[in-house]
Amino acid sequence: MRYANPAQTKFSFDRNRLPSPDEYYKSQGLRLIGGGAWKNALCPFHNDTKPSLRVCLVNGAFKCMACGVSGGDVLDFHRKRYRLSFPEAAKQLGHG
Ligand SMILES: [Zn+2]
Repeated sequence: MRYANPAQTKFSFDRNRLPSPDEYYKSQGLRLIGGGAWKNALCPFHNDTKPSLRVCLVNGAFKCMACGVSGGDVLDFHRKRYRLSFPEAAKQLGHG
């Protein structure tokens, strides 16, 4: 799936209004395991049995070592998980 860069859309978007990665991923029911900036969690994008998803609490980036889903921030995660357009996802995450 192609990542829509906010700078390339006409939709104006203030990244500061996104929830923090920590807050967002916990609200999504992910149990974050491990120390440091990158945490492990069960991947919601496939039927995960061991924590294969890596999420970064600094910028919200995520990558699954099993199914390969990845993205650069919590907005990306939200769009992919719920199959939303960029403006829809931004709205749900507290914008506008
Ligand atoms: Zn996965």
